[in-house]
Amino acid sequence: MKNPFENAMTQLKKAVKIIDLDESVFVLLRQPQQIHEVSIPVKMDNSSLKTFRGYRVQYNNARGPYKGGIRFHPQVDIEEVKALSFWMAIKCAVVNLPYGGGKGGVEVNPQELSESELEKLARGYVEKMYRQLGPDRDIPAPDVYTNPKIMGWMMDEYSQLAGKVAKGSFTGKAVEIGGIKARESATAKGGFILLEKMREDLGKNASEMKVAIQGFGNAGYIFANFAYEAGYQIVGISDSRGAVLSKNSELINPQELFDYKRKKGSIENFCEDYKDKNFIAGSNEDLLTMECDILVPAAIENQITEDNADGVKAEIILELANGPVTPEADDILSKKNITVVPDVLANAGGVTVSYFEWVQNLQNFVWSDEENDERLRSIMIGAYDDVLVCAEKYETNYREACFVLAVERIGEAMKGRGWV
Ligand code: NAD
Repeated sequence: MKNPFENAMTQLKKAVKIIDLDESVFVLLRQPQQIHEVSIPVKMDNSSLKTFRGYRVQYNNARGPYKGGIRFHPQVDIEEVKALSFWMAIKCAVVNLPYGGGKGGVEVNPQELSESELEKLARGYVEKMYRQLGPDRDIPAPDVYTNPKIMGWMMDEYSQLAGKVAKGSFTGKAVEIGGIKARESATAKGGFILLEKMREDLGKNASEMKVAIQGFGNAGYIFANFAYEAGYQIVGISDSRGAVLSKNSELINPQELFDYKRKKGSIENFCEDYKDKNFIAGSNEDLLTMECDILVPAAIENQITEDNADGVKAEIILELANGPVTPEADDILSKKNITVVPDVLANAGGVTVSYFEWVQNLQNFVWSDEENDERLRSIMIGAYDDVLVCAEKYETNYREACFVLAVERIGEAMKGRGWV
């Protein structure tokens, strides 16, 4: 399997070919504008000194400040951070947010740090990157193993260094310090808005549609609940240890399953413990290839590959996870006429609500929950319509259409600035 940045560049090249893009735009888009690498010293609780490597890749800011998460993970890899920052630039352009793309990471296993060590690391990252960050320059958000608490420490450190309260320097914060309640459910909500739109376009009732969801964390669990409440048939849910599958008339209640997971740590033994329900315990592979109308990968990357794509039976794949389908699998799914709603559109609800948080922080003005909700709906549907028009115009699948649309928009911004 290629490294993620190579995959990203394959996607870029495909888009470039479809629209015969200006060579200068391609030259500027094939590499990040800036890569920052720092060493962050942390005095540990036992008084020893440890250093951690931190990265921030600022891919492109033609359309606005860089935007993208910071992950804390032992396997943070610069090629992956570069790819993720490129995809952020694409994602923000697809949903037409006035942002560029960036991404950051620290090589650390946060589970091995105490709370005070974690806070020192978060503040140290900001101290070292201070000149690269800021509400008008680069606005990070949470990603893998970072959370609202860490964003709060980071925003505070930035504010202290700047000598002013700069709430708009980080998004995904707790509500008390300028965050938005809807952020937690935003990714799932954005994907669910698209599901509803597609269902309406197909003229179907929710109760006729079977949904299988891989991954039962923030994105997968909340999405499953939205779909269940709206009357969709939830026929499969999995986590890292296995799947619960319904192959008879009994449907899965995600809340009940989540309560079980909270108690037991995993859904692994649910079928065994609730034999009366007649659910079947399966593997993730079983879930990905089960009979359903909608398959929602909401776990990790590279799950649908050339090895299992042929077995996928869903009509629609809605990618809540980043990069769950490999480029090779994409070609197979296209041939099978399976509609893939790609990550850069399907999970863009998260960054969209982050954008709302930033706008409100800059204005010192708070919108109502209903306003946040309505604006999210309007942006997701607007982006979906734009992608459909683009797919029709260039006779491409939705992923290629997203890349074409984004690259065109970024290219226009570069032209407007006189870069090309
Ligand atoms: P999470 O950590 O809350 O949940 C991940 C879930 O996936 C867990 O239930 C875990 O058990 C499961 N999982 C892990 N490995 C698995 C495997 N091999 N097979 C099946 N399940 C597995 O993470 P999340 O925030 O829900 O993110 C999930 C995906 O959505 C990631 O790709 C993430 O990048 C993407 N995403 C999330 C957000 C967001 O706002 N949360 C935004 C954009 C994209």
